[in-house]
Amino acid sequence: MIEKDKKTIGILGGGQLGKMLSDAAIKLGFNTHIYSPDVNSPAFRNATYNTIEKFEDKKKLKKFIDTVDLVTIEFENIPLTTIEYISQHKPIYPPPAAIEISQDRLKEKDFFIKNKIKTNNFKNIESINDLNSWTFDRKSVLKTRRFGYDGKGQKIITSLEDAQKAYLDFNEYPCLIEEFVEYTKEVSTISARDTFGNIFTYLPSENIHKDHILDRSFVPASISKDLGTELKQISSIILSELNYIGILSIEFFVRVNQQTKEEELIANEIAPRVHNSGHWTLDGSDISQFEQHIKSIVGKKINEPKLIFKTEMLNIIGEDINYWNKLNSTENKKIYLYGKDSIRKGRKMGHVNFINKN
Ligand code: AMP
Repeated sequence: MIEKDKKTIGILGGGQLGKMLSDAAIKLGFNTHIYSPDVNSPAFRNATYNTIEKFEDKKKLKKFIDTVDLVTIEFENIPLTTIEYISQHKPIYPPPAAIEISQDRLKEKDFFIKNKIKTNNFKNIESINDLNSWTFDRKSVLKTRRFGYDGKGQKIITSLEDAQKAYLDFNEYPCLIEEFVEYTKEVSTISARDTFGNIFTYLPSENIHKDHILDRSFVPASISKDLGTELKQISSIILSELNYIGILSIEFFVRVNQQTKEEELIANEIAPRVHNSGHWTLDGSDISQFEQHIKSIVGKKINEPKLIFKTEMLNIIGEDINYWNKLNSTENKKIYLYGKDSIRKGRKMGHVNFINKN
C-alpha cells in the first residue's frame, strides 16, 4: 500500500538482495522504489514502486530520484556515473568511494595494502606481455579486474601459456594475476556502520564454495577466538576508513602460514552491500542483515546483533529448485524462494536456513 507520509527508500537493482532489502524496509515502515533494467526483477514483486529503465538513462533516473528520500544499492556493478549523478541530488549509501573500490580488483588490493590488511600476491595485467614477469612455479588465478562474480571472469592457471590463453579468452580485458591460496577454510564478515559511527559485526560465517559459487555458509565458523577478534578488527578498520554507512561484507581465506605454522587471514574481496553469506541472519540472529542495513542508512542507531540460533544456509542453485519448491518450511528449516523467471545452471534460485534450536 502506498502511504504518502512515509519515507521512500530507492534501491538500485532488482535481484533477490533487492527483494529482501525491500521486504525489510517495508516491515520497518518505509516505502520502497526499485530501479532495475530487468522486467523480470524478483524485487518488483513486493516493492511500493518500480521503475524498469536503464541505469544510464538520466531523465528516468531524475524521475526516480524525485520520488525517493535516499538511495541504496543491491549490487556493486552499477555504473559509477549513475551513482555520482544520484549523489548530486539525494543521499546515497554506501558512499560512492566504497562502491568504486569494490568495482575494480586492483583498487581493492591497493586499498587492503594501504590499510596494512594482508592479501595474496598479485600483479596488474594490462597487456599480454605483463604476464612474462609473473612466476608460474605455483598455481595462480587470472581474474578480470571488473564485473566478475560467482567464478565468472576467473581461471586457475598453471603455466604462462595457460595464462596467455585465458587472457585472450577474456578479450585482453584488464586483469589481475594472483597467487592461488591453499586455504584451509573461507570465512566472511558482515558488518554495519550507522550515521553515528557505531560499527557492529555479526559472528563470521564459514563458507563452502562449489564451482566458485557459494554453496553453504554456517555460523559459528570453526575458527579460533583470536581469528574471530582479528576479523572484527579488520572489519572495523575498513568501515571506518571508508566512512561507510550500511552493511559491508568482506571475504577472507584462512591459511596456515608456512613460517609460523599459525593460521592467518588473507583478505580476498569486499562487497559494499548485503551478502549471500549473511542470509543466515534472517533466522539465526535477532536482527537480519537487511534490517540492519536499512536502519543504518535511514539514520537510526544500530545495536550489536546477537546470535540466537546456530544456523546453516544452503543455496538453492539451478535445477535444485525443482526439489525445494515442493517442500514446505518447518520450524527448523526455513525455505526462501526468489521467484526468478527461469532456471539457469549456476543461478541462485533461493536458499534454505537450517536452524539449530537445541
Ligand atoms: P572471488 O570472486 O574472488 O570471490 O572468488 C570466488 C571463489 O573462487 C572464492 O571464494 C574461492 O573459493 C575461489 N578463489 C578465488 N580466488 C582464489 C585464490 N586466489 N585462491 C584460491 N581460491 C580462490
